[in-house]
Amino acid sequence: MLFDTHVHLNADQFEEDLEETIERAQEAGVQYMTVVGFDRKTIPKAMEIAERYENIYAAVGWHPVDAIDMTDEDLQWIEELSQHPKVVAIGEMGLDYHWDKSPKDVQKEVFRKQIRLAKKVKMPIIIHNREATHDIVEVLKEENAAEVGGIMHCYSGPVEIAQECIDMNFMISLGGPVTFKNAKLPKEVAKAVDLKHLLVETDCPFLAPHPNRGKRNEPAYVKLVAEQIAELKGISYEKVSETTTSNALEFFGIQSQ
Ligand SMILES: [Zn+2]
Ligand SMILES: [Zn+2]
Repeated sequence: MLFDTHVHLNADQFEEDLEETIERAQEAGVQYMTVVGFDRKTIPKAMEIAERYENIYAAVGWHPVDAIDMTDEDLQWIEELSQHPKVVAIGEMGLDYHWDKSPKDVQKEVFRKQIRLAKKVKMPIIIHNREATHDIVEVLKEENAAEVGGIMHCYSGPVEIAQECIDMNFMISLGGPVTFKNAKLPKEVAKAVDLKHLLVETDCPFLAPHPNRGKRNEPAYVKLVAEQIAELKGISYEKVSETTTSNALEFFGIQSQ
């Protein structure tokens, strides 16, 4: 059994074959998923998918790349949606310094507003970090995000920062990069971080794990991530899949079925 904690089945790339993609996931043992909406287009689709499928949950937030577009109405909308029974987290949110569509100060402000919202509605947060590790940790500390905790999604930083995040009640979620031959840091994190703090994800349609690197990613491939973690830790695949699934169920507050 597996829980893919970060999917974008709401992306255009799955428009044609959503049903088949979900069937392939089930055949690979992926019983649960969280579909992440991050703007005016992907949030309604995430809600629609979560309402249609029993074991698919939703997270709603605003992506840092588009921070400059977020209005007070959008934030209000996210707050309303947080009350929906299938919504299990606020996000993805964070900082992305790779793209410069939104200035850093705007990204930080939108990030802070969403952390405050999550604290208000008492929900965990999902963090997107690209080339902004230092500032992310700083904002999380200043806003006391430890109060709600969250997920460092597709974590690719060093072990020491992972530990710092764990100390703030965050889970470390590993994705496709842990399977890449040249990805030193994610492999070190997979080895060093206790399994009780780890989650697995695909971030599909992006970042497909080896040997599917470069192709469209999909939830069935999360198995490759769990297998890689098992190999790196020198433990069984069953142990990794069972523990990361129960970690995710507990984190999102979902009763297993
Ligand atoms: Zn992301
Ligand atoms: Zn994402």
